[in-house]
Amino acid sequence: MVSRVIPVESFDLVIFGGTGDLARRKILPGLYRRYLAGQMTEDSRIIGAARADLTEEAFRAQVGAAIEQFVPKARQDTAVIAEFLARISYVSIDAKGTGGWEALRAKMRPDVVRAFYFSVAPSLFGELAERLHRHSIADARARIVVEKPFGRDLASAKALNAVLASHFSEGQIYRIDHYLGKETVQNLMAVRFANILFEPLWKSEYIDHVQITVAETVGVEGRGAYYDKSGAMRDMVQNHMMQLLCLIAMEPPYHFDPDAVRDEKLKVIRALQPIAPGDIVRGQYLAGGGEGGYLEHCEDPGSRTESYIAMKVAIANWRWQGTPFYLRTGKKLRARTSEIAITFKQPPHSIFDDAEGWKENVLVIRLQPNEGMELMMMIKEPGPGGMRLMQVPLDMAFADALGVEADDVPDAYERLIMDVIRGNQTLFMRGDEVEAAWAWTDPIIQGWEGRGERPQGYDAGSTGPDDALMLMHRDGRRWREIKG
Ligand code: NAP
Repeated sequence: MVSRVIPVESFDLVIFGGTGDLARRKILPGLYRRYLAGQMTEDSRIIGAARADLTEEAFRAQVGAAIEQFVPKARQDTAVIAEFLARISYVSIDAKGTGGWEALRAKMRPDVVRAFYFSVAPSLFGELAERLHRHSIADARARIVVEKPFGRDLASAKALNAVLASHFSEGQIYRIDHYLGKETVQNLMAVRFANILFEPLWKSEYIDHVQITVAETVGVEGRGAYYDKSGAMRDMVQNHMMQLLCLIAMEPPYHFDPDAVRDEKLKVIRALQPIAPGDIVRGQYLAGGGEGGYLEHCEDPGSRTESYIAMKVAIANWRWQGTPFYLRTGKKLRARTSEIAITFKQPPHSIFDDAEGWKENVLVIRLQPNEGMELMMMIKEPGPGGMRLMQVPLDMAFADALGVEADDVPDAYERLIMDVIRGNQTLFMRGDEVEAAWAWTDPIIQGWEGRGERPQGYDAGSTGPDDALMLMHRDGRRWREIKG
């Protein structure tokens, strides 16, 4: 099945930080793929901006190299790449300086959507917003896209919201959380709200618990100094994992409309209960397998920053009273995997003698690898051995189900940038959502900082600290296996 590609409006997209890692790995290759798919109109333009004094040819060569490196070979079409590159230009601008702004203004065309991607350090967001405004480069329809991290606590997030709000309305600000751009994450909403099957069961009466896992095999190599200032709670839980939790836990919005969806997510965040210290396990990976541990990679040999966190979260509302959400994320774990698993309760009464063969129904939403969904069901074991039960998966890998190559499932960034051009904010975080998330996270972080807690060591390549296992075992539950 070939998905329908509806071209978006023509645009001028300025990428501040156009020479940076994110632009090279994700934004520019993603835009090429949208061009290849016919979604980016012929007369749309991309303008890279950074301090480096580059000619347009030199920047185009960088973009060409990025496409070669980050787009699968089968999708590299020389003629289309040349057409795409012809739509790219460059201006040298220092976000804090005065030069280059008039040159940028001269490049912007009337009557097309103007979008500005702030793919630079967050400390520059305010300066960029102010200068776009001062030089009349952003018109009333302009959109700005801001990258994570959006603050490091409630106070800094509020300050950032305030500085952006002094130049742009909330409807113009797109706070990106690339997890929300993943096909599976959006499918979570389709599965919940476009089928009658699950929603009647989607409550504590029928759901025993929910597990959300984001496991990485990489460590903090090369990013140690940056990561050490944030840790797993700020880097993963406060944004990506809370967004996933919200999509599972929220009430049905009245319409698939940006504010209707975000209003419902906000209610979930506000219903999150404070977490008791005993419901959190923090870990830090140890040296092993010839590689250094966390402490060898950050600048502070006594660092107390966590590279792993597991927590039990309670949502205090009618739907979820009594159904815990277990979240865990970490670096240097056994496999790279991201999934949400919804474990249902036992049927009220079993008519079968094979009590041992019985296992819970589990709905697994796989974000990576191999985006898809799996429903663990009970069936009769085949053969003449009597009525014995076994668990089998109803497995739907999206790439198979939709008849596309895994490489062709658009990357989250591609989808989100197209949403920016369409003016659809559904998959972007609203300012009040971000602040509410920090308001919940801040006391947790302050708690362990105040107690001077050290994270527990865990072996690289393991499933995390032992206490994380206990977090589940003491409730008579177990984590799902971490496997790639
Ligand atoms: P990066 O590789 O360090 O690139 C930074 C970019 O900003 C470069 O193009 C740099 O070019 C430009 N820049 C720096 N100072 C500037 C200034 N004063 N004025 C104008 N341009 C300036 O960073 P990155 O990894 O691409 O990250 C960019 C943003 O995305 C950050 O907010 C980061 O937190 C976020 N992010 C990145 C990733 C990722 O995977 N890389 C993932 C999630 C979020 P010049 O030095 O030539 O100016």
